[in-house]
Amino acid sequence: MQNRIKAPIARVVDLVKRYYLESVTVSALSGVSLEFAEGDFIALMGPSGSGKSTLLNLLGCLDRPTSGEYYLGHDNVAYMEDDDLSDVRSRYIGFIFQSYNLLAQYTVVENIEVPLLYQGARLNAKTRERCISLAEMVGLGNRLDHRPMQLSGGQQQRVAIARALVNDPHVILADEPTGNLDSKTSDEIMMLLTELNKAGKTIIMVTHENDIASWARRVVRMRDGRVESDERNKPVPLAPPTGDVADVLPQVLAADGMLDQTDIADAESDR
Ligand code: ADP
Repeated sequence: MQNRIKAPIARVVDLVKRYYLESVTVSALSGVSLEFAEGDFIALMGPSGSGKSTLLNLLGCLDRPTSGEYYLGHDNVAYMEDDDLSDVRSRYIGFIFQSYNLLAQYTVVENIEVPLLYQGARLNAKTRERCISLAEMVGLGNRLDHRPMQLSGGQQQRVAIARALVNDPHVILADEPTGNLDSKTSDEIMMLLTELNKAGKTIIMVTHENDIASWARRVVRMRDGRVESDERNKPVPLAPPTGDVADVLPQVLAADGMLDQTDIADAESDR
């Protein structure tokens, strides 16, 4: 399981994104072609305005390209209708944001459950158990009923990571995940992401910090809406992993508490 890198799980071909502002056209992406292998850990870097967020938004099915293709698995999802796009988003993609984006009025467990609601799943004892397992896996087993305000930034980001895993997504997209954290906490979060990656999760992360990018296996640098360089990081000896996540994640995701398609079908037929 460790260090496996398989066929492309996501692929963009000649991706172009233009924004039209009155008489001005802004080219945010000017023909980006990239393949993302399953099990890889990619850092997207580049100066401000180089197109990183635009690319991440397109990869996250939050927006559509002006032209070009986006294959997620075998499906071209570039030009899907809104409903289909949000369906793909909720089933196949996990998001981690710089500012965590947790719901203030919800507890840790309830925040982890949120993507299941978007997916149209029925929440029950099984889904609750799964969310608790994920909270435990990210080290928040003793904070299940806390609300975001009662947690440190690092703890909030751990909740967000557990939330990103709840749908067992194909790809985790992380936008400056340590941007609001001090360096010690950043390292802890990067260690957690590294362990998830070692457990097989594909991660694409935007960062402008070299030391954060050094945790990734591959670094793609953008400039002026194009790929400037695309290199594999030298394998660096990581801080000794605790092993917890790598050991536990496959079990959590495969556990009896795992959301299965019948839960979703049941919930959909209820609506
Ligand atoms: P980065 O994330 O690397 O800072 P962005 O993807 O945010 O870069 O932006 C790339 C370019 O596209 C910039 O010139 C930016 O001003 C422009 N841009 C991004 N989003 C929009 C938008 N919604 N409307 C108009 N221009 C945009």
